[in-house]
Amino acid sequence: MANPLYDRLFGPLKGRTSNFLTLADGRTMTGDAFLRMAAQQAGALAEIGLVAGDRLAVQVEKSPEALALYGACVMSGVVFLPLNTAYTADELEYFIGDSAAGAVICGPGAEETVRRISGSAVVLTLDAAGGGSLTEAAARQPEQFTPVARGEEDLAALLYTSGTTGRSKGAMLSQSNLLSNALTLVEEWRFTAEDVLLHVLPIFHTHGLFVASNVALASGASMIFLPKFDVNTVLHHLPHSTTMMGVPTFYTRLLADARFDKDLCKSMRLFTSGSAPLLADTHRAFEARTGHRILERYGMTETNMNTSNPYDGERRAGTVGFPLPGVELKITDPDTGVTLPDGAAGIIEVRGPNVFQGYWQMPEKTKAELRDDGFFITGDIGEIDADGYVQIVGRAKDLIISGGYNIYPKEIELILDEQPGVLESAVVGVPHPDFGEGVVGVLVAEPGAKPDLDAIRAAVGERLAKFKQPKVLEVVTELPRNTMGKVQKNLLRDQFAGVFL
Ligand code: ATP
Ligand code: MG
Repeated sequence: MANPLYDRLFGPLKGRTSNFLTLADGRTMTGDAFLRMAAQQAGALAEIGLVAGDRLAVQVEKSPEALALYGACVMSGVVFLPLNTAYTADELEYFIGDSAAGAVICGPGAEETVRRISGSAVVLTLDAAGGGSLTEAAARQPEQFTPVARGEEDLAALLYTSGTTGRSKGAMLSQSNLLSNALTLVEEWRFTAEDVLLHVLPIFHTHGLFVASNVALASGASMIFLPKFDVNTVLHHLPHSTTMMGVPTFYTRLLADARFDKDLCKSMRLFTSGSAPLLADTHRAFEARTGHRILERYGMTETNMNTSNPYDGERRAGTVGFPLPGVELKITDPDTGVTLPDGAAGIIEVRGPNVFQGYWQMPEKTKAELRDDGFFITGDIGEIDADGYVQIVGRAKDLIISGGYNIYPKEIELILDEQPGVLESAVVGVPHPDFGEGVVGVLVAEPGAKPDLDAIRAAVGERLAKFKQPKVLEVVTELPRNTMGKVQKNLLRDQFAGVFL
């Protein structure tokens, strides 16, 4: 019986005697061994009573077993619901309650708490080394599991957004949402069975889970599957890899290490970046050091990937490239929804087989952000340049309205970043008694430097209209970032909420 996602991603692992995963300690696992592990887990899920359509919440450390759980869910039609390992018990309680998960897999240390907050859900454990009560239950199951029939529209995953702009929302992703995007990316990024993907992203987020793992599965590639990004380990494994997917902070951390050079990247053919903006400076420094132009792409939990810089052709720094084949992208007026001409900044809307089915139990929000004609209102502000490259200008929620004027933080940040002694910056709007919002520039100094704030004010004064100039400049040791390297502007807004009051 058909199960498109299984048939295309996991089915081909059957009988595969070649390597699928290489682990940090050098152990390897064939495709067939991985599939048998997933089949046994699927048996264990069935044994505890989970059936197609039920949700399985998973908050565990990254391991082959954790990835196999995704396969187990696909086989059994259970909706996979991975959760950030950083979430606290309170947050977990919300996700488990909101999703009405039928079972929860957690680390052994969290078991007691999770039982307390999980109501009637069954709780099993999985530790970082792959042991725990799930694995014990799986060991009693056969190494074969007949995949449950699923249609393209059936849900495969419920993936919560990162919560950068507010409370995380559960994005309902169908089999074909995931599959269509994986197949497109394999083509666009030229993945083949010869590829070795250096996998150092977390697998609770769309980037590491769907972009990275699905592309490897769909192309028959293998992965060097490491628990997390660590410069030393990455330097060690790079010479044995052909591709790596990362968030911008991975690349700045590699560049900060003098050992990272062209020679280590000899076998590499592709580095991609996403989840947060890659500074044009980083792009250039990376090329100067390695000869590689990082391929930046743009996506989100609700849509998987929407745009990508070209594999062949110019990968343009500071842009996220072109809409992927099958994805329509337009820039619209935030108030009227009317399509704007190229070159104008507005809301990015996307439509395509990758766009999700709606937010879990949030019909109002779904209606507000997913148009009847299928276009999803991303909440990102962007523009399309004369050559068709899409540029992200910021998020609608970070737009500052001061004295009735719209201010895009990115425009100011780019200028602040150029100033002597400034490593990076973030610009936010906070309550202001006269203007509604006032502009605050938050700076991080380069190591050992002390930025001259008066000089910076003067420089900004020459480049920007008065209403855009930060009324306050603050220096902090680092910008608050979440695990995906996203700057948490809500925390900065809280921190500086009182500066004008
Ligand atoms: P929430 O929706 O809960 O506020 P979030 O939008 O950060 O959180 P994700 O789905 O993980 O949750 O992230 C998607 C967002 O990440 C995009 O909407 C966009 O703002 C940002 N993003 C992704 N890739 C890029 C990129 N290459 N450049 C700039 N921003 C990017
Ligand atoms: Mg979002």
